Amino acid sequence: MTTYLFPPPPVAAVPVRGHPELFPVNRLFFVGRNYHAHAVEMGKPVDKSVERPFYFTKAPQTLALSGSTTPYPSETANYHFEMELVLAIGKPGFRVKAEDAHDIIYGYAAGLDMTRRDLQLVARDKGRPWDLGKDVEHSSVCSEIVPMPGVVIERAAIELSVNGAVKQKSDVDKLIWNIREIIADLSLFYHLQAGDLIYTGTPEGVGAVLPGDRITGSVQGVGEVALTVGPKA
Ligand code: MN
Repeated sequence: MTTYLFPPPPVAAVPVRGHPELFPVNRLFFVGRNYHAHAVEMGKPVDKSVERPFYFTKAPQTLALSGSTTPYPSETANYHFEMELVLAIGKPGFRVKAEDAHDIIYGYAAGLDMTRRDLQLVARDKGRPWDLGKDVEHSSVCSEIVPMPGVVIERAAIELSVNGAVKQKSDVDKLIWNIREIIADLSLFYHLQAGDLIYTGTPEGVGAVLPGDRITGSVQGVGEVALTVGPKA
């Protein structure tokens, strides 16, 4: 029997609607700049005819369940919300064709890609990795996963409010690279596995929160996500 010098960290996991079992999280992938209006607000418009999607990852240890209160992170003065549709992978897939992408979909969730925007932009503009801006403790907020095996979401209202005021309002039909295209492209680089979560990108309207703020978001037909920003770490 394998033994360890100290207890290994617990498996990151998310509740599943209608099931007693948790969804064990393997990897967290994030699509960058996947709504035109958000790409424009970041000063980096996307021309799909000549560009491919890009990704960053966060450690599974950054997962925070919807409804949590998480600390305002250290070393930032510009902590941003990004509302996203989260795709949950349920089967292995490598070099998956777009027309077969539905085969490996387990379901969906509503998520937040919380970001130290000040540090992300410094990294971006200096050509450095994004980790300090993106791989932030407690920054990968996820609702319960809704089992929708084989379903490809093509349109759904996506919305986020802070303290009840709407900040982001769009539709998943505005994704630059859609669900099938994301799976096809990402699986060229990674052997996707059951337990992988793919945050599909945020629409326009991103902005900063402060300690005490309450974020609520929704994806039509999927669910809701909530986060309370706690005191500074
Ligand atoms: Mn994002």
